[in-house]
Amino acid sequence: MLRSHSKLVLLTPGPTPLHDEAVSALALPMLGHMDAEVLNLNAEIQADLRVMYGAPNAFTALLSGTGSLGMEAGFANLVEAGDDVLVLVNGTFGARMAEMAARYGANVRVVTAPSGEAIDPDDVARHLGRARMVALVHGETSTGVLNPLPDIARIVREKSDALLCVDAVTTVGMGPFDMEGLGIDYAYTGSQKCLSAPPGVAPVAISPRALARFDARRTPTPLWYCDFGGLRDYWEKRSYHHTVPVNLHFALHAALRAALREGLYARAARARDVGFAVLSALQPAGFTPFVPTEAARLPTVLALRLPPGLDDAAVRAELRRRGMSVTGGLGDTAGLIWRLGLMGESARPHLYRPFLATLEDLLG
Ligand code: PLP
Repeated sequence: MLRSHSKLVLLTPGPTPLHDEAVSALALPMLGHMDAEVLNLNAEIQADLRVMYGAPNAFTALLSGTGSLGMEAGFANLVEAGDDVLVLVNGTFGARMAEMAARYGANVRVVTAPSGEAIDPDDVARHLGRARMVALVHGETSTGVLNPLPDIARIVREKSDALLCVDAVTTVGMGPFDMEGLGIDYAYTGSQKCLSAPPGVAPVAISPRALARFDARRTPTPLWYCDFGGLRDYWEKRSYHHTVPVNLHFALHAALRAALREGLYARAARARDVGFAVLSALQPAGFTPFVPTEAARLPTVLALRLPPGLDDAAVRAELRRRGMSVTGGLGDTAGLIWRLGLMGESARPHLYRPFLATLEDLLG
């Protein structure tokens, strides 16, 4: 048995604390992946995902894996060797996209922005060229930056016929998302982020245009496990493809229902309000926003530059000893910033109050 497991409060940018209804659903008796009840539950998940993504005409499904599998499935199915792919990179997850696209044989070009800054849509316009796909991370978890998706999407749609592939891991489910209105072709997230379900399934949405591109492939999708054809076999034709993690479907279904019941606008307001309160409380202690431009701050991941002299590792170790898990920087921001999670169940004042009190106690 894990020692601290029942007491530890996750203030991290994922996984987030589980929603109570996801916990109960997880413990339901096992059913077979081809059982009619499971297939009907899957259909409800698909309908709810269309609402969450703002994509009434998209094909939606769960992939049996985490958010990275959602990312990989997009490149595996929608890119063929030699395709020109423009990836927008301003952090760890954008860089991961570029690496994956290259592994599937794409001719990858990148548009970059410095750490802590958003991608400039004018740069995207300048580098569009003959891209067959443009890929970007909406909210860069590694730096807490929100990229200007509506402006970028408008440019891609007006100036090219490239598919638009969006990592929505830190955004969808914690606010309205307008996949169809923005002309997004492929979007994905992970269950353990904004929905507060256990990790292990990746909710994806695929536009009719992306499915047409998939159908016109010259070569089979190299990744058998997430081939869109195999996905459609299971989710549309109800025929066997692989054994899906049924209990994770139960939990995701419950968490997604709870999110839609609460309302996507209400969830966005909850993240914003808790984030504002935490920032206001920490600023007098010398914490400052890592992202200088307010409009580029991701509401679901509060990235804070540490006060000079604060011993990152020691303070986080003490917080953990007192039952709170806080995440530091990644890559070049390690030791410089903390990233406080405001996705799903982590955006709760009653979780942050003890953290603020403990920090005041530790920092004096
Ligand atoms: N994309 C973003 C923006 C993320 O924050 C993460 C995980 O933190 C991923 C992709 C990868 O997801 P996973 O770790 O679930 O594979």
